[in-house]
Amino acid sequence: MNLILFGPPAAGKGTQAKRLVETRNMVQLSTGDMLRAAIASGSELGQRVSGIMERGELVSDEIVVELIESRLPEAEAAGGAIFDGFPRTLAQAEALDRMLEGRGRKIDLVVRLKVDDDVLTQRIAGRFAESGRPDDNPESFKVRLQAYNRQTAPLLPYYEDAGKLVEVDGMGAIDEVASAIDSALDGAKA
Ligand code: AMP
Repeated sequence: MNLILFGPPAAGKGTQAKRLVETRNMVQLSTGDMLRAAIASGSELGQRVSGIMERGELVSDEIVVELIESRLPEAEAAGGAIFDGFPRTLAQAEALDRMLEGRGRKIDLVVRLKVDDDVLTQRIAGRFAESGRPDDNPESFKVRLQAYNRQTAPLLPYYEDAGKLVEVDGMGAIDEVASAIDSALDGAKA
């Protein structure tokens, strides 16, 4: 089973992905986590992307596609992949389909977590105060939200046309969102 958790920043994708790792033996593939690890390690890639990420802009398609590709075998060996924060552009979505097809695999389901912009902005203000993640500051968050609305949300018809899209209300309690995702997964053919 290969699942995309789709939604704006702070929609709860990471929280839900981590739960599915525990309950379904799937592997979370978060490009944001991979990029933050690259920055923390001081690698050349990390140095290249840190300014872009801090501003809240998207890094290049090539970089994230390569990161994802390197992790696909690991997900195949487990119960499948949960793509979290990837794909974020049409080029990434097409590259993902090609990579999976080349390996005899596919995306089975895309769960869109729907959360209103004002709720996201409130959530992130709390998270910034707690975690101090640099791109959670109000200015960068605005840019991240714009990037989602302009570059990522237009992907929804791509998955809807493919009959893979399921929408879940992401504004409920974590457990409620989790059960809605579980129902969608159980209803989807692997
Ligand atoms: P996230 O943790 O998913 O919110 O990602 C944090 C930041 O990493 C984003 O604001 C982008 O700068 C970068 N990033 C993560 N995933 C992608 C992606 N698929 N495409 C482009 N940039 C990404």
